[in-house]
Formats: sequence, C-alpha cells, structure tokens
Amino acid sequence: MPSLIETQTKDDKKKIAVCGAGLVGCLAACYFAERNYDVTLYEYRSDIRKMKVVVGRSINMAMSVRGREGLKRINAEEAITSKGIEMYTRMLHDTKGNMTSVPYGKSSQCILSIDRRYLNELLLNEAEKYPNVTLEFNHKVKKCNTNTGEIIFENTSTGQEVKINSDLVVGCDGSYSAVRQSLFKDKPVNFSQNYNSGYYSELRIPPLNGTFALPEKHLHIWPRGDFMLIALPNQDFSFTCTLFMPLEMFDKLNSAERVIDFFQEYFVDAMNLIGKESLVEMYFSTRPSPLISIKCDPHHGKKCVLFGDSAHAIVPFYGQGMNCAFEDVVVFFEILDSMGFDNIDRVLEKYSHTRVPDAHAICELAVRNYDEMKYLVTTRGYKLRKKLDNF
Ligand code: FAD
Repeated sequence: MPSLIETQTKDDKKKIAVCGAGLVGCLAACYFAERNYDVTLYEYRSDIRKMKVVVGRSINMAMSVRGREGLKRINAEEAITSKGIEMYTRMLHDTKGNMTSVPYGKSSQCILSIDRRYLNELLLNEAEKYPNVTLEFNHKVKKCNTNTGEIIFENTSTGQEVKINSDLVVGCDGSYSAVRQSLFKDKPVNFSQNYNSGYYSELRIPPLNGTFALPEKHLHIWPRGDFMLIALPNQDFSFTCTLFMPLEMFDKLNSAERVIDFFQEYFVDAMNLIGKESLVEMYFSTRPSPLISIKCDPHHGKKCVLFGDSAHAIVPFYGQGMNCAFEDVVVFFEILDSMGFDNIDRVLEKYSHTRVPDAHAICELAVRNYDEMKYLVTTRGYKLRKKLDNF
C-alpha cells in the first residue's frame, strides 16, 4: 500500500463520500485515502469482482498518457499497463482489404488497449487496500444536498433508505449522475446534453490459430463515410470490434441476409475473421447503444465536486472519456494539495475554473473526430456515403 500523505489529524478526519465506484470513483477514492481522509465509496451495483458477467459499456478502451499519469500518482501504473496492449498506429482498412498504417506519434509513442472490467477491478482492489476506505455496494444515490453534504441512498438489496452526512460529496456516478441532478437544485448550473448521430454495437474477432487474427499493435479502423468499424486487441488474442452507425442504418439491417450483404460490401475482411454465423448472432443479440455528450458548468457545489462522466460525458471518438476523467482527479488534487481542505470553497472554485474550459474543449473535439475517423480516407468516404443512401 502506498504511504499515506498526512494532511488530516486523526481527530479531524474529513468525511468524503465518493458516489460511484466506476473508473474515476475508485481512482478518486485512492487519492483521498492517500491524504488520510475518511473515505466511503458508494456504488449502485453489487461488487463487479464477484459477478460472472458485467453488463455495461465498451469491453476494452484506449488509455493514453493522460490517463496513465493519474494511475502513476497512486503507483498503479505498472500493474495496469503491464496488462495493456500497445497500439502504435491506426490501421486503416479499405473495402478491398488493403491496410495502411498511420502512426499516433513518434515510433516509441503508443496508446494502450485495456480491458474495462480488469481496470475497474484493479482500481477497486487498490481502493480496498487503504484502511481508511470503506466500500458500500448496492447503494444508489437518490439525491443529495450539495450545500450540506447530506446524501440519501437506496440500499438496493434491502430497499431501505440510508441517509449519511459528509464533508464533501464526490460525484463519480457517470453520465446520468444523480449527484449532478441534485446540484441543479442547489445552484445555477449551465448544462447541455446531445445525442450523437452514431449508435454503437460490439462484435468480436476471435483468435486465429491461437494468436491474433490481425496485426495486434494497432487500433484498426474501417472508415466508411457515414459509419465505421473499429477493433482493439484483447489479452486473449481476440479483438473487440465496435460498429458505429446511425440508428436508421442499424434498423435497416433487420435480417441475417441484409447484415451479411452489408458486411460483404463494406467490411468483408472483418466478416471473414468474425465468421458469418457469429456475426449475425452477435449483431442481433443486443440493441445498439446511443452516445451522449454532456457539458456542465460549474463542476462543483458548496460541498460537492463532479469528476468524469458526471461532469462531462465525452463521445468515444478521441478515446478520452476515461483519460480525461483521470486527469480531473490529478488537477483537483494539485489544487487541493496547494490550498488545503480549510480553503475548500476556493479549491472548488479554482477546480471548476481550471477544468470546465478543458472539458468543454475535449467534448467538442471528440464529436468532431467522429467525422475525421469516419472519413479518414478523405474523398473515398464521401463516395461511399452516396452508395449508402441507396443501400
Ligand atoms: P462510469 O464508468 O460510468 O462509472 C460510473 C459508476 O457510477 C458506475 O459504477 C455506476 O454503476 C455508478 N452509478 C451510476 N449511478 C449511480 C447512482 N445513482 N448511485 C451510485 N452509483 C451510481 N474513454 C477512454 O478514455 N478511452 C476509450 O477508449 C473509451 N472508449 C469508450 C467506448 C465506448 C463505446 C464508450 C461508451 C465510452 C468510452 N470511453 C472511453 C469513455 C469512458 O467509458 C468513460 O469516460 C468512463 O467510463 C468514465 O468513467 P466514470 O467513472 O466517470 O463513469
């Protein structure tokens, strides 16, 4: 366990209620714990480490330097990156199956493909190592008072209401944040949410002859104009593919034959690796999910701060949602460490002042990058768009 930073005396421990034990909630809990606060991490779901299947978003995700920095400061970078697969380039696939590699940076620079569940579990383990962190699963935030620090939870196993008081409510409860919702009642907050035209659905390319079916050190992209397929490598030699497409297109592909014809025309190399039968089975096994972009300003209340998707949900086209969420924590603690909890009002003000413009900027860039990725082959993408209209 990392050594504790002694900023709190034993008698005067501030109570920190971190709401949401997803990626950023666990990381934030570790940061508060290192500074010897009395931390409770409340999570709506039961413990994912004990679940067979975790239902939720993308299976794997791209981690960049921004996210790694957040882990480095709790000495968890090595444990996590050692399970990641380096991706040095974007590998573009054209309709004939030709591949072109576009580097992310210098030859040594890469992003990592990491399994979301593994990352969340590891961060839960990290948080649990601190004696001053308590984990409370099956606790769903119903509402809170961001002026007083009072929170009301529903214990989802017993149905009972649980009321607690805290010195700081840390909202890490994702895009549809109940903490953020409560903040709206307590102070004026500028807020916007937009659904992207693209929905997404996940598919899988299995290993081939015991190894990766495609070159593994790349993020594969099949840019096709109004839609695209991407694939990130997994530790088990498979690739998780994500098909991004307007919902009307998903709806049009409403029979096995149509799905196969569509893949035959646009993603034939991927289909050959997925297998026609598996493709159809996976395609129809889930409804495509929407993608939301959320901005709010400020990211704090009197006794409340928002981190991650609760503050700024970012569409995944820059692969920055989690990375930016981790950076929220880094930035917040740089400010807290320099000013101290006695000046929490000023800390929170400064945090929002610093973070909101950056969060808004990355939200915008991510939306714009959808076009960049879909049309990566420039004019070729636009030609395909015309064909798609007639599909
Ligand atoms: P979440 O991960 O959503 O965690 C929120 C937690 O709060 C959950 O555990 C939830 O159960 C809990 N919760 C919710 N409501 C309550 C409540 N009322 N009370 C208590 N607990 C509650 N980002 C990247 O950086 N790189 C990528 O490659 C990437 N790929 C993505 C691909 C897709 C398809 C999508 C949709 C997103 C992707 N992202 C990526 C974004 C990334 O998933 C999010 O930014 C990240 O998960 C945010 O973490 P979080 O902890 O804020 O929210």
